[in-house]
Amino acid sequence: MAIITQPCPFCGCDEKDLTLSSEKSISCVWHFVLCGNCSAQGPQEKSAGEAWERWNDRI
Ligand SMILES: [Zn+2]
Repeated sequence: MAIITQPCPFCGCDEKDLTLSSEKSISCVWHFVLCGNCSAQGPQEKSAGEAWERWNDRI
């Protein structure tokens, strides 16, 4: 499944500035898209694929 990444809605930077980050919680690891330019953070999801999808959905 190809994921087309949308640019950042806050600073409008190119998708190359977006990175996938993750944060460990007690029960699982949350993945989210992070903008390297303005530090905007996408929705936290349980899988990397979902994190990208949610980022794109939000636009
Ligand atoms: Zn940004």
